[in-house]
Order: sequence, then structure tokens, then C-alpha cells
Amino acid sequence: MSQNLSSLRQQVRGLQQQFPSLLETLLGREPLLPGSVYTLRRRCGKPTCHCARGEPHASIVLSYRGQGRPQNITPSPEHVSAVQKLTDDYREVRQARTQLLRLQRQVLKLVDGIEALRVQEGERRFQKLRASFPSHSQR
Ligand SMILES: [Zn+2]
Repeated sequence: MSQNLSSLRQQVRGLQQQFPSLLETLLGREPLLPGSVYTLRRRCGKPTCHCARGEPHASIVLSYRGQGRPQNITPSPEHVSAVQKLTDDYREVRQARTQLLRLQRQVLKLVDGIEALRVQEGERRFQKLRASFPSHSQR
């Protein structure tokens, strides 16, 4: 029983160690852009174009889902890395948030387990104490 309890405590302490780095990500100051940058490869359809047989055209596209409808935007080459950084940071924050949620659920479950075991122990102790109570007068 108490072994179980200390195993649960140990698990909580283990999970707790993951919080600082998650919080560091979540409490950051870098601006975030909800969207993602990807490379779009396509053939333009002109039969004489090199892409008809060789490599398709590649362009970098920002899939941006900010206010309003999602849009696909082609950032100018000099802005690609800045846009990439904004969306990478956004993704990182979203992932950290998901992890935080998972972690909190795990901790809560363990903490509830600890509480249940402690209540069991408390009940046992109380039953012992109760046995030594002076008998009540019936009213
Ligand atoms: Zn082409």
C-alpha cells in the first residue's frame, strides 16, 4: 500500500520535471503566426515547359489561417525565413500546449490515486480510533 503510494509520488515528481521547459516555451515573448510554410511542387501544364518531363516547379507557400478564411500566400524570397520562424514558433507553442494538457491530466490522475490511498489509510486509522471512543449515550 505505502509502496504503491510512494510509486505514485515518484511518478508525479518525474512528470513535474517536464513542466519547466514546457512553460519556457509557453511563456515566451516571440511573436507567433498561425499557419505553416511548405513547398508546393506542381507542373504548370505547358507541354513545352521543362516541368512536363523533368522536375516540377517548386514554390514556397504560406498556408495562413489568421483572421477570416485560410489563405495560401507566396512570400517573397527574402521574407521566407522570417515567415518560417513565425510559423515554427507557433507550432512549437501549440505542441507545448498539447503536452501540457496531457501532462496535467496524468498528474491529476496520479494525485487522485494518492488521495484515494490516503483516504483508505485515514479510514483505517479512524476505525481504530473509534474503537477506543467512549460509548455514546443514545439520545
Ligand atoms: Zn512548367
